Amino acid sequence: MSVITLHKEDIHKGYQMLVNKQHSIKDNQYFTRQLLPMGGKFNKTLLKKNTGNLLNQLLDTIAAKEKIALVSGYRSQQEQEEIYKSSIVENGQLFTEKYVALPNCSEHQTGMAIDLGERADNIDFIRPHFPYSGIAQILRENAVRYGFLERYQKHKEAVTGISHEPWHFRYVGYPHASIMHHHDLCLEEYIPFIKDYKFGEKHYGFSLDNKKVEVSYIQTEADSMNLDLSDTLCYQISGNNVDGFILTTWR
Ligand SMILES: [Zn+2]
Repeated sequence: MSVITLHKEDIHKGYQMLVNKQHSIKDNQYFTRQLLPMGGKFNKTLLKKNTGNLLNQLLDTIAAKEKIALVSGYRSQQEQEEIYKSSIVENGQLFTEKYVALPNCSEHQTGMAIDLGERADNIDFIRPHFPYSGIAQILRENAVRYGFLERYQKHKEAVTGISHEPWHFRYVGYPHASIMHHHDLCLEEYIPFIKDYKFGEKHYGFSLDNKKVEVSYIQTEADSMNLDLSDTLCYQISGNNVDGFILTTWR
């Protein structure tokens, strides 16, 4: 058995964390680490290392490197503030509230979100063109296998509180993107969905490629807690940025 110690403040870190108006970023410093330069249309796109590497693999698989522009990836708190302020001046309050997240409430500050646009001479920075056809749609159809999801879908506007953004993709990792896609859940719905599978009581399980995958929720009650996991397990733990952790194991 291996003992893993979970600290309460770590619920604000990890690939499955929910970031929105109600659940803001608590530790900006953490997200400045391990950022990978991606190049891209604006030539300074950064993404968290795993997110960036998997996006590169996805783009290579569908031969889209020359066809899709990486319009906006990681943003510092200061950059998000500047984008918000300048959008208010250029586009007005109503438009900005619709399409630009408040500072500390933007997934872009985690380095796990990317805005994609079809390559063109002029690309709209806030609303890049990323249609449901051609290479954009091919990316969408393959994204889940690499842990990415179209984050702000039209039919989820009432749940996310964010207008439809066909260009914004979020890395949540494997197998979470597949589970969310399978059950048609956005991240706001996935967090409570997994909470039903309390660690030690039950889990969300399935088999894939001869692997037994189990996902469960760990509630944080104390400042720190110990978890006993079998040495033969591969595992990943992420905070949900709400009230606990999501544990994923492979056997
Ligand atoms: Zn975005």
